[in-house]
Amino acid sequence: MNIYGNSEPRRLVAQMIKKNREPHSIVIHGEKGLGKKTLAKWISAALLCEKQSGEPCGLCKSCRMIFDDCHPDVVTAKSNANGNYIVDDSIRPIVSDAAVAPSEGRMKVYIIPDLDMSVNTAVQAQNILLKLIEEPPEHTAIILTARSKEIFLSTIISRVLSLGVTSVSEAESTRCLTEKYPEVPPREIAESVSAGRGNIGRCEEYLGKTAFRSGVLIARELCSAVVGNNEYAVLKALFAADGKKAVLREGVSLFAEIVRDSAVFRLGGDREKSVSCDREGAKRLSETLSAERAVRLYDLLCEYVNRIDANCNLSLTMNSLAGQICRIIG
Ligand SMILES: [Zn+2]
Repeated sequence: MNIYGNSEPRRLVAQMIKKNREPHSIVIHGEKGLGKKTLAKWISAALLCEKQSGEPCGLCKSCRMIFDDCHPDVVTAKSNANGNYIVDDSIRPIVSDAAVAPSEGRMKVYIIPDLDMSVNTAVQAQNILLKLIEEPPEHTAIILTARSKEIFLSTIISRVLSLGVTSVSEAESTRCLTEKYPEVPPREIAESVSAGRGNIGRCEEYLGKTAFRSGVLIARELCSAVVGNNEYAVLKALFAADGKKAVLREGVSLFAEIVRDSAVFRLGGDREKSVSCDREGAKRLSETLSAERAVRLYDLLCEYVNRIDANCNLSLTMNSLAGQICRIIG
């Protein structure tokens, strides 16, 4: 299994396994696309690998089954289509199953991904799991993932090994994508990296022609419209979402990232270190927009992302957003 990035959490886990202090309760947190699920799989393989060297050997039966997602002792909880865990179907069964010895390997691993997406039951699920996390059986490990550490109860977070995932360098993104998608032309790979930067998941979304890719185009259009102080162009960029809420949301939140970068540049931050999908745009914006206005614009955009989430009337929202943007930059 070739794995890119997150070398620090991997080093930590490998060290613990080597010292026979393997972790049993783990929280992996960090932005979408930074490899939380990949890291969870890597840790499962490291825990169950027949060689027990701290890292997965990638060759033994256990490692191969885990990388093919068919190891009977690695169980990933399933949420419903809205991301919510139905606790009676997916969380309580883990608690009762955890007491039973593993069928194949030396341990059983339960992975509960994206707990933050389970808006309705994130707290209930944690309360049900608390006992298991406090006193896990010797043969059990449990891995929870979420975009933010904030969603975890203090009783949970104080008892787990907490691992944060981070982005990789753009060069690493390029290497990873080239290896994973040999059929994709290098130009397309480079384009995806200029949009997703060190977030490999985002680069992949761009390659997949998803809402993220359309959002990147809108965000870049918005940026040049704001640089040109052109209200009509702002409106046109927003309407390019074509009434698709997910695309508009991506576009506005990605533009917010560009604006944040521009404020950082304006305040003397490193202009080569950009996390947004339009580094050049952020540079140009920083030359026209004061840091104070950039911050106001950033807050406005975040507020509108929330409005879009709250099922507003899209057309009215876009018109009002365009007006407000122009009031700030005018
Ligand atoms: Zn192995």
